[in-house]
Formats: sequence, structure tokens, C-alpha cells
Amino acid sequence: MRYGMIIDLARCIGCNACTVACKSHNGTPKDIFWSQVLVEEKGEYPNARVVPTPILCMHCEDAPCVKACPTGASYKDENGIVHVNQDKCIGCKSCMVACAYDARKFMGGEPKSYFPGKEVTELEEVQHTEFSRGVVSKCDFCADRLKEDLLPACVGTCPAQARIFGDLDDPGSEVSKILVKKSGRTLLSHKGTKPSVYYLAR
Ligand code: SF4
Ligand code: SF4
Repeated sequence: MRYGMIIDLARCIGCNACTVACKSHNGTPKDIFWSQVLVEEKGEYPNARVVPTPILCMHCEDAPCVKACPTGASYKDENGIVHVNQDKCIGCKSCMVACAYDARKFMGGEPKSYFPGKEVTELEEVQHTEFSRGVVSKCDFCADRLKEDLLPACVGTCPAQARIFGDLDDPGSEVSKILVKKSGRTLLSHKGTKPSVYYLAR
């Protein structure tokens, strides 16, 4: 089993529902994004447009972050998902340096409010205390949801069905069938990390 995702850029409308679903499900604190949508401006007025590209941890098959981690906190499970064991992480950030995709986020400092100038709410306090301070965290393909036969939150919520998730090792899975028919490309493929997230061209 090797979990992977396809992101169909022709379908993505840049609505950020995936970003919100990720934050909502995982309760990540302010400024911590495990899933986000990059936007690029193209063309000139009156023909200007924004082009969205959703990104998340690529769950690289040959993950440099795992190799860089000195404590074994970063590891890959039997399903190809790369995790961080927060109890083993010492916050040295070696994995963040090794990751070319900016997929890892460092949690430090005091809780911050989503509302500038306002007190931290009870929810924000809880969100912050759920995460250990001084350690690194990242997307785990919603491993808790997968155990319950649910899709990752970003996949389940995407109104454009731009995200397809499944087992890349199973030739009968939807992801494998799509990748046979259409050539999916991976980001920064020259880095040789063999990402498990593929993109279909616009
Ligand atoms: S939810 Fe789907 S359509 Fe919206 S930004 Fe994310 S991938 Fe694109
Ligand atoms: S995208 Fe970054 S954090 Fe995710 S597996 Fe690859 S190197 Fe590690």
C-alpha cells in the first residue's frame, strides 16, 4: 500500500475549501498551514487572472526529511505516509531545511488570535495546547480519518473534485487508473524525492 493523491489543476478553482477543511479537521493553530493554495498572477489587465496551485506534504517515497531527522521523530509508515512523532521531535528543524516543499511547520511561542488586537479565544487556546511547542508538524494525509475509511479532509471537501486519493500500488485504484491514462507530473521532480502527490496539467 502506498497512499497518494492526484490534484487536477484543470478543475481547481482556488476556493481554499481544502485549506479550511485541513485547519478545521486538524485544529492547526494560527499561521500553521499543512495544506494551502499558492496563487500566481498571470497576464495583464484586462486579461489578468490568478492561477491556483494547491500544495501539501508530498509524502515523498525517498523522503529527505526522514533521512535528516536525528532522533527518528520523522518516519514513514507501512502505507507510505510520512509522520512526525511530536514526542521525539527536538525542534532542530533539520527536516525543514531538507524539505524542498515547505511542507513542515514549526510550532513555537505563545498562542495567537485569529482576530488582530483581540484576546486569544478559548478555542484558540485549546488549538495551541493540542500541539507541542518547539516542535515540527505537518500533513499526515489525515491518517486518523483513513483509519475510519474516510478520505483526507481536503479531498472530501473539494467542491470541484480536483483531488483524488488512493493506493498508488493498486493498479485497480482510481489514482492508478488516472495516472495510466494521463501523465501526472510531480513538483520539483529533479530533486529525486519521488513525491506521492501528482498534478494533472491545466
Ligand atoms: S478545495 Fe479543491 S477547488 Fe478549492 S482550492 Fe482546494 S483543490 Fe482547488
Ligand atoms: S514534502 Fe517535505 S515533509 Fe513531505 S515527505 Fe517530502 S521532504 Fe518530507
